[in-house]
Amino acid sequence: MKIAFFEVEGWEEKIVRGTLAGQDVVFSAGKISDAGTETQDAEIISPFIDSPINKETLARFPNLKFIATRSTGFDHIDLHACKERGILVSNVPGYGNNTVAEFAFGLILSLTRKIYKAIDRIKEAENFSLDGLRGIDLKGRTIGIIGTGRIGKEAIKIAKGFGMNVVAYDLQPNETSANVLGFSYAPLEELLEQSDVISIHAPLNESTLHLINSKNIIFIKRGAYLVNTARGGIVETGALLTALRDGILAGAGLDVLEEEGDIKDEMKFLSKGSADAEKLQVMLQSHALMNMENVLITPHNAFNSQEALERILTATLENVSAFVGGKSQNLVP
Ligand code: NAD
Repeated sequence: MKIAFFEVEGWEEKIVRGTLAGQDVVFSAGKISDAGTETQDAEIISPFIDSPINKETLARFPNLKFIATRSTGFDHIDLHACKERGILVSNVPGYGNNTVAEFAFGLILSLTRKIYKAIDRIKEAENFSLDGLRGIDLKGRTIGIIGTGRIGKEAIKIAKGFGMNVVAYDLQPNETSANVLGFSYAPLEELLEQSDVISIHAPLNESTLHLINSKNIIFIKRGAYLVNTARGGIVETGALLTALRDGILAGAGLDVLEEEGDIKDEMKFLSKGSADAEKLQVMLQSHALMNMENVLITPHNAFNSQEALERILTATLENVSAFVGGKSQNLVP
C-alpha cells in the first residue's frame, strides 16, 4: 500500500521504514498543503496537527482510504468530509497525559511566579531587581480543571502534589475518579467563581467551542490565571482579551490559539485572496495577546517531549499496521 507521512523528522522516518517494511512509504517534512505529486496516489496518509484536512485536501488524494493522525485531537480533520468519502480516521489517544499536564504546570508556575519575566530581565538587562516579580503560592489555592479525561486527571494529580484544592467541570463527571483523587465537580460558572487558576483539558468540539466566552468571563474570580493547553477555540479570543484588559484575569498561559494554523502561516492566509473578517479579527486579537506582558504564549508545544513523540509514533504505526492487516483500531467516531 502507498502510505504518505507528513510533517515527519529524520529519526521518525527510520523507525517507520523498519516497521512498515514491504509497504510503499513516502515521507515529507512539510505540511499536507505542500504535498507534491509523489503522494497523490496514497491510500493511507499520516498527518500531524499543522496539516488541516478538509474536502479540498481529500480531493487531492483520490485513492485515500485511511488517515492516521499522529495526535490525540482530530479537530484539524473534517470528519464529515471523510465519512462522505468512506475514509476512516484514527488518532492516538493517551500518548502524553503526563506530558501535557506537566507543561500546563510549567505555564502555571511561569505565570504565578513570574519566571519568564525574571529570566528575561536578567538575559536582556542583567538586572537583578525584584521589582514587580512577587508571585503567589499554589499551596492552598484552588485550581479549576475543565475536562477530567486522561490529561485532566494527570493535572489533578500534579495539583494535589502542590497542595491545591481541585474543583472540576466535565460533561461526564467521573465520581470514582473524584473520590480516588480527592476533588469535586461543580457547574462551570461555580468553577470560574472559585478558581485561582483555571486549566483547560477538554477537546474542541461543538460543545466546547467558546466554552469560555464574553457571557461567562464575568464569573471568573478577579485576579485568576487561565491556562489553555487544549485547543484555542475553547476560549473566545475577544473575551480573553477583555478579561485581561479589565483585570479579571491576572494572566494567561496559552499553548494553543484560536486560528493558530493561519497565525503560524500568515503569508499563506493573506495570499488566499478574500480574507474572512472574523478570522482576521481573531488574528489581530491574538497579536494583541502576544504583546501583553502577562500573557505567555507557546507554539503548541505541550506534547513535545521525546517520550511522548516515541509513544505517538509507536501507536500510529500500530494503527496503520492494523488497517493494512484488515483491522482497525483507535478509530475516531
Ligand atoms: P480525553 O478524551 O481523555 O478527555 C477529555 C475530557 O473532556 C472528557 O472527560 C470529556 O468528557 C470532557 N469534555 C468533553 N466535552 C466537554 C465539555 N463540553 N465540557 C466539559 N468537559 C468536556 O482527552 P485528553 O486525552 O485528556 O485530551 C484533551 C485535549 O487535549 C485533546 O482533545 C487535545 O485537543 C488536547 N491536547 C493538546 C496537546 C498539546 O500539545 N497542546 C496535546 C495532546 C492533547
